[in-house]
Amino acid sequence: MRKKVIAGNWKMNKVLTEANQFVDDVVNKVPANDNVEAIVCAPFPFLTSLVEKTKGTNLKVSAQNMHFEDNGAFTGEVSPVMLKDLGVTHVVLGHSERREYFAETDETVNKKTKAAFNHGLTPIVCVGETLEQREANETKGLVEMQVKKALDGLSDEQITKTIIAYEPVWAIGTGKTASSEDANEVCAHIRNVVKDVASDAVAEKVVIQYGGSVKPANVDELLSQSDIDGALVGGASLEADSFIQLVEAGA
Ligand code: PGA
Repeated sequence: MRKKVIAGNWKMNKVLTEANQFVDDVVNKVPANDNVEAIVCAPFPFLTSLVEKTKGTNLKVSAQNMHFEDNGAFTGEVSPVMLKDLGVTHVVLGHSERREYFAETDETVNKKTKAAFNHGLTPIVCVGETLEQREANETKGLVEMQVKKALDGLSDEQITKTIIAYEPVWAIGTGKTASSEDANEVCAHIRNVVKDVASDAVAEKVVIQYGGSVKPANVDELLSQSDIDGALVGGASLEADSFIQLVEAGA
């Protein structure tokens, strides 16, 4: 049985007092069982504080991006070494907003995924098609290519630990969710791709999330699908009550 991983992606929202308050509100409500893992993906300036607040609890803290180099002349960037040193456990890589606005490519996602493992961080690797690509029937081919490139050169053990988030771009922040069957079909396809690049055993274990307008009202149906092992949630993760409802749905 794969555990369900519920990750709240705050994106560029909140200030430090709000971030702290959120964690104070939810930290003792995260169920203490092995069925569900709860993660908040917070902006860099909040990470130190949130790691401190979540020490010894079941809530994990993730960054939303990082550079692939360890250190050096990369003004404005944050390295995996820095994140690891802070006590961050996860990092979101290749989110469609990074791909669209910040020139993230499959190649940099691959470098960052490797860098994450080199420093003991768990990558949450995002893939997904635009509306245009879906309408042109390119979804499976595109997602397959994104997954293969992201995982290129990783060991089976690393692939097993990678969290893959399938996020159709047209469903992000739009209120339009992929139907649970459509979402599951693509997640199942991703599992088959993992089978191809690694093995049946790895594909059985790898966690594949769905993301795109997930909310308490639709999370149960999405999580009941055979190949959806969790959710990467933007808008509905900003409120403590809603985030806890999503986590409880996975428990
Ligand atoms: P959304 O964002 O839940 O607001 O659609 C999801 C995401 O971008 O991870």
